Amino acid sequence: MLTRNSRVKYRGLVLATLAVVLLNACGGGELNAGSQPVVIDYSKHKALVIGVDGMQYEKLLEAVANGRAPNIASFGIAKSYIGGVAGSVTEQATYSGPGWTTILTGGWVNRHKVTSNDSKLRSQAESIFQLVKNADVRRRTASIVSWDTINDNFARDIALGYIDRAEKCSEDDQCVADKVSGALRFGDFDFIFAHFDEPDLTGHEVGFTPAYQAAIETVDAQVGQLLTALQQRQQDHADEDWLVIVTPDHGRALPDGHNHGNQTLSEKTTFIAINKAANAQFSAPFSDPADKGFNGLYGNATQADIVPSVMAHMGIRRNPDSYRIDGVPLIGELGVRQLTAQADKQARSVTLQWRVSSAPSGKPLTIYRDGKQIAQLSDSVNEYTDSDLQGFEDEVVDINYSVVLNQVPVAYLARADLGRPTPLSPALLDGLAHLHLMENDLLDRRAGPPIAPWENGVAASFGSDGLGGLALYSDSAISGYRLEDTVLSASPQFSIGFWFRSGGQQSDTPILANKDYANGKFSGIAIAQWGNSIRFNFGDGIARADLDGLGFTPDQWVYLALAVDGASRTAQVYVGDSVRGLQQGSVNLAGLDVGKLAGLRRFGLNEDATGSYFSRGYGDKGKMDFNDLAIWNRVLTKKEIAGLFSSGQSLASLNP
Ligand SMILES: [Zn+2]
Repeated sequence: MLTRNSRVKYRGLVLATLAVVLLNACGGGELNAGSQPVVIDYSKHKALVIGVDGMQYEKLLEAVANGRAPNIASFGIAKSYIGGVAGSVTEQATYSGPGWTTILTGGWVNRHKVTSNDSKLRSQAESIFQLVKNADVRRRTASIVSWDTINDNFARDIALGYIDRAEKCSEDDQCVADKVSGALRFGDFDFIFAHFDEPDLTGHEVGFTPAYQAAIETVDAQVGQLLTALQQRQQDHADEDWLVIVTPDHGRALPDGHNHGNQTLSEKTTFIAINKAANAQFSAPFSDPADKGFNGLYGNATQADIVPSVMAHMGIRRNPDSYRIDGVPLIGELGVRQLTAQADKQARSVTLQWRVSSAPSGKPLTIYRDGKQIAQLSDSVNEYTDSDLQGFEDEVVDINYSVVLNQVPVAYLARADLGRPTPLSPALLDGLAHLHLMENDLLDRRAGPPIAPWENGVAASFGSDGLGGLALYSDSAISGYRLEDTVLSASPQFSIGFWFRSGGQQSDTPILANKDYANGKFSGIAIAQWGNSIRFNFGDGIARADLDGLGFTPDQWVYLALAVDGASRTAQVYVGDSVRGLQQGSVNLAGLDVGKLAGLRRFGLNEDATGSYFSRGYGDKGKMDFNDLAIWNRVLTKKEIAGLFSSGQSLASLNP
């Protein structure tokens, strides 16, 4: 809910924006004598952002309904999302480190690079603290946190003086409440970040229990303590106008709420509570976003919108050409929303798309690439393809685009693979023992046995492989395929590689396994899927070795490979993904009898090697597509795997 007072202030802000526009139009300084716009003194516009770690949106609403969060309930509350857009360059883990860094920079992980909760990571994006200081060095900032890692991630800002007062309360939320209250009452700060941790700590400990509701109530009371301090301050500083935002950094995993970190609707869903009248980005989410994943969650505001909102309130403007903030302001004038970029490798171009909330009126819309204006369009246009990328190297590049409408810039850091296709090396035929090209058949081009369906009489189905040929399409209607193996038992040195595609929906699901996957210790190897990540498992009947969590982009072809060196007892595992690049992991097999990795001497595709994994009630069977399944009796180098992934060509091109 919004107070009458805040609405009046909002009107003042709109007039002030107009005043600035007029000033700019006159070259600054002299106002047209005929009009008398109100000139806002932005030095009196201040902001308090209150973080409530791990407070789940639905559980907050429950607390509000029960009268247990009256302070947060006094604000306008809107659903929002964290974790970026899954499968795009903005996707980030729903952990606190990436989340708070997005909240304090307005950028996603492809800008800030804080990928985890590692306190050694340093934000690589400009922070709100730096933005405030650079706008006016006399303005003062504070960051007072319960989870100390936040101030570690912004240690550079502290060292450079962008944060005047940085305090770590080491999981003592009352310390935060008391210090921030003091800073509000007696300090002279323009921007304060306060962070409370209790909802997250309680969630990890006991999940969604009455204690979790009590933690929400406790933190809401501490938010109330800050609001009381602010009211007391405003008795002495009636001319100040404070924006207050309350926000969590992530949701929690269903059903029990103990964990978070993954890309699920519940973990991605967050909220933003604000004490000001907000614009359509806050109050009118799109019901039909371009990416309809997670029940349309992407139509909502995001945690990246908080920094631009603080900037709008505090009158901080940046040059639109060098603008590098992904979020959209939630208050004041709106530019474009829902900005995305999609690179096309073949066409060597990047296509930007966006949405505009109001009816098109011919207003100018300007696009900048890395500081240079590349297009002047109007607000009736929703798409632009940048084909003028000749100046870029033939490699994967990050390109910053900013789109400006109504003098409000919004940016997107696009990733484009501009590498030219290179032919596959003929040396890949060396040691190539099995090759299933899946060109409308299940034959082995190296004269081994064909792949066969587990169920007799099931016809295999084939479709495009994205490389100019065909691929094997497997879905949940059939119980996968099997492949007899002669390589792994004969050689302790081997490699397996293939193209794979899945919607990322199923979990605990073998993609390719020569073992009974009911237990990770059972003899053999399994490459398995868990949502949109790949797991590699090795067992010898007694012990196991694993590597979990190399991510992949749903619905895109990715290259999966492993190379086992039985002599040095190590395995290298790879996931080549056009969005994430070639990811590599290393697995130590020193504790395993590598002779047992031959497992059941038969592979299951979209099944384990028993053919009965799903019918025994394990895992979620789903849709998987396979192409160019190859097994070598030698250890492929990383360079060879990188070539298979990046060439964009089938092994058929080598006439095997
Ligand atoms: Zn947590």
